Amino acid sequence: MALLVQKFGGTSVGTTERIEAVAEKVCRFRKEGHDVVVVVSAMSGETNRLIGLANDIMEEPTPREMDVLVSTGEQVTIALLSMALQKRGCDARSYTGAQVRILTDSSHTKARIKQIDEQRMREDLNAGRVVVVAGFQGIDENGSITTLGRGGSDTTAVALAAALKADECQIYTDVDGVYTTDPRVVDSARRLERITFEEMIEMASLGSKILQIRSVEFAGKYNVPLRVLSSFEEGEGTLITLEDENAMEQPVVSGIALTVMKRN
Ligand code: ASP
Ligand code: MG
Repeated sequence: MALLVQKFGGTSVGTTERIEAVAEKVCRFRKEGHDVVVVVSAMSGETNRLIGLANDIMEEPTPREMDVLVSTGEQVTIALLSMALQKRGCDARSYTGAQVRILTDSSHTKARIKQIDEQRMREDLNAGRVVVVAGFQGIDENGSITTLGRGGSDTTAVALAAALKADECQIYTDVDGVYTTDPRVVDSARRLERITFEEMIEMASLGSKILQIRSVEFAGKYNVPLRVLSSFEEGEGTLITLEDENAMEQPVVSGIALTVMKRN
């Protein structure tokens, strides 16, 4: 039995059918006896749609109102996923970032997490509930809604895992792990079973867009085991951890990230 934080990105919750598939997966972990906290992104395309609406009104919307707007995407998916879990007899409760109390600084649209109150999540977990938390958002000391920057749900998941001292933070996405190079460009690309935080940060800075770079830095700092795996296929994915004792036997260069260029 483990305490798992599982994050599902926009494509994984892009339709109600996919949300139901996520609920199936989460229920299975719960029935195996694990405690589960789920973090979700907005449905794919939703954050861009909201930004578009704001830009229809004004060229440079004020960052505070922008955060009120874009944080709504994740409020939709936490509610829908909780319903899909409840329908399956899996007790669940949804929380916005503010309701958990993910306290951030006041840098709207690029806020940093300062503190997380894990009390309420613990109570739910102890009562056998799945806790479903909106990614990408928090609240500042004045009670204003903040967001963490594009791709910020990854950072929410890692931060919750650190606060709860979870056994693993699992990032479910549309690729089945971290590859030596981009599998869409190079056929011989190989999925890595393990990679260190440092190597992953390096790959992210070279253009790999699998994880928000801040989330990897955060995981390294708090030593949160991080696993990237597919929402749609079975598999072990790639585990990102501190350097392990077998490091000497492993190749020095694990991967070369490429910025994917459109080929005609
Ligand atoms: N919905 C936000 C975005 O599109 C956050 C996330 O998906 O991680 O950037
Ligand atoms: Mg993402």
